Formats: sequence, C-alpha cells, structure tokens
Amino acid sequence: MIHPHRKIQISKLAEFVAYEFSDRNLTLLKEIAYFEDVPLHFDNYEDAFDGMLLYDTNNCNFHIHINIDNGNKQDSKRGRFTLAHELGHFLLDEHRLGLKYGLLEPHASFHNINQKSIIEEEADYFASCLLMPRDKFRNHSLEYKRQSGNRKFSLDTLINLSESFKTSILSTLIRFGDIGTHEIFAVISKDNIAKWFVKSADFPNWKFNFKIGEPVPQTTVAGEYYTMLERKFTSVELLDADNWFNPPPDDHRADRQMYEQCFYSDSYGYVISLVWFD
Ligand SMILES: [Zn+2]
Repeated sequence: MIHPHRKIQISKLAEFVAYEFSDRNLTLLKEIAYFEDVPLHFDNYEDAFDGMLLYDTNNCNFHIHINIDNGNKQDSKRGRFTLAHELGHFLLDEHRLGLKYGLLEPHASFHNINQKSIIEEEADYFASCLLMPRDKFRNHSLEYKRQSGNRKFSLDTLINLSESFKTSILSTLIRFGDIGTHEIFAVISKDNIAKWFVKSADFPNWKFNFKIGEPVPQTTVAGEYYTMLERKFTSVELLDADNWFNPPPDDHRADRQMYEQCFYSDSYGYVISLVWFD
C-alpha cells in the first residue's frame, strides 16, 4: 500500500508531465522519453520481463527496454502501460537515483495482479496517473454520460475510457475505482477463483459473500459463466446485493437495484465482474 501522502506526490508529478506531453486524452509517452534523453528499445526478450529500466554505467545514461514478446507492442494498450511504468521508475527521483547508485537492483517489471513490492506499486500508480490524468479522465466520463441523453453507467463507460486513453480495461477499472464518477465494485476472477477486487471509496463497505482465493458465488454472472461451461453473458444483468454481499438487514442502500456486467479477457483468461447501483 502506498502512503496517501506519497500517492499525492506521485500523482502530481505524473499529471504535470502528462499535461506537458499530450494530444487531447492521449499522453505522448515516446515524446517524454525523447525529451528526457532515454533511448527506447522495443525488442524480443522472450518471457524475461515486460519492461526494464537500466542504467548504463559506461555512458552514464538510462535505457528503457520493452519486451514485445510479452505482448508489449508499440502503441498497444499493454505496451503503453509498460512504457509508462518504466518512465515512472525514471521520473521518480528515489527510483532513478536508487538505480544509478546501486541502492536498488535493476529489476524486471511484470504486469500481474499479484503482490508487488512498493517500488512496483509506485511505478504502476505513476503509470496510471500519467496515462489517465484525474481531470481529463473524470471529464471524459461525464461527457460520455451526457451523450445520447444521460446515458446510464455500465461496462461501456469503462470500455469507452479505455479506447480514449488507450489503456487496458483492467488499468482503466483500477483508475475508475480510485477517481471515477460512479461508485463501483469489481471482482477479478480466473478459473472460478476470485483473485482480487476493486472498490470505490463510496461503495458500501459490506462483508463479501465469498472469499478471495475461493470460487465466486454461483448465483452471480461470473459464477454462471464458470458453472455453465463458460457461456459468456455480456449484457447488463439485474442482481440483488446479497448475490455478492452480506449487507446488514437495516442498510437500505442494499434495497436499490444492483447490476453486474462481465468482461472476459480472452488473452489472459480472467473475468471482471463489474457491479454497481443506479
Ligand atoms: Zn518496475
């Protein structure tokens, strides 16, 4: 967990840089690397890492290596996140100086949702602020909502943001959970195991009806996908709050209509269950 004070520091720097180098919602990452004199190498490194920032002691400069074998193609959503993450290691003083003076080991950065070191968490957070600056992100969400007459929130909102900011659905979801314009809850599962969750600060803090590391509840949309031979339900489904949670009986927020919509990642095999109220 990054300390809230440190989060503010990181987001301020990342968003300042993002506003200096952008074309509407798109942060121009290669221009940042060029401006900072950091050569980029998009190359085949098998499965060694997604990205890596290396200090060249002979020439006293930094290089960023991006592994296209791991799906990090130039300008792809994954490739952009990897590059933004490595730029974080370069632009955050503690990271860059640590690498330069050998206080930090050069490390392979991997994208996964497993437990990460604080250095990796910070670079991921930097990347998400660099790619999705708060005001642009929120304004775009509100603009999307206003289009075609006060459109209702759904997974489409996240998909639209992900297209506009060229960010993966997962990184868009995480950012939306942090600063989004609608209260959300989401569970990321794989092979019928709940791996992880995202929750907006204003979504009710109810006890879950399931445990991380165990199967998702069968009566949810994701649960039906796993128990019904991976039949994909992509539309918005109506659920009751007690399909995912154990709300206290006197909490009337649970009486509202709850919705769930699933996103299925074919390439990585995970399922995102997005849950929200009106
Ligand atoms: Zn890293």
